[in-house]
Amino acid sequence: MIIHPRKLAQDWLQAAGIKISELYSPSTGEINKIELRKIYAFNPVLAQNIIETFNRLNASDNPNIKFNENLKTTLIGSMTTEIMKNVSDGETKSKPTLIKWMPSTAKEPDAYHSRFYGRVMTLKAAQDLGLGIRWGCKCGFQVLSGGDVFKSRLRKTKATL
Ligand SMILES: [Zn+2]
Repeated sequence: MIIHPRKLAQDWLQAAGIKISELYSPSTGEINKIELRKIYAFNPVLAQNIIETFNRLNASDNPNIKFNENLKTTLIGSMTTEIMKNVSDGETKSKPTLIKWMPSTAKEPDAYHSRFYGRVMTLKAAQDLGLGIRWGCKCGFQVLSGGDVFKSRLRKTKATL
């Protein structure tokens, strides 16, 4: 079983009816309130992160800020972080989920993460190294052991997020 956390995050957000591309309205220069409300109802942590990013961008003097891109990355990144936190929840040292780090699907992969491609480690170790969590990370992982436990955790994560 190969998981791409970022892709999963996008799929689950889409399944929840959240239109990532309509999160920001360039015509008003504001976050689209309808989308924000949907996100808040889905998971308040995600909405909070988006508002924080928006406020930070608004306070910046940089005229070249891409609001759309930054807010999208925040939403998907926060969602991916939530997924990673939840799927490793309940991991024990004696029975860890072993994973193999899979290469990023990004056009310009992160050099820091590329050194881990193909490495076998616990899911927790990968999470600590920022798999799916590091800004813009598009890496994946293959579940090598504990697949059934992992699958049930994944189902639970989907139901609770
Ligand atoms: Zn990565």
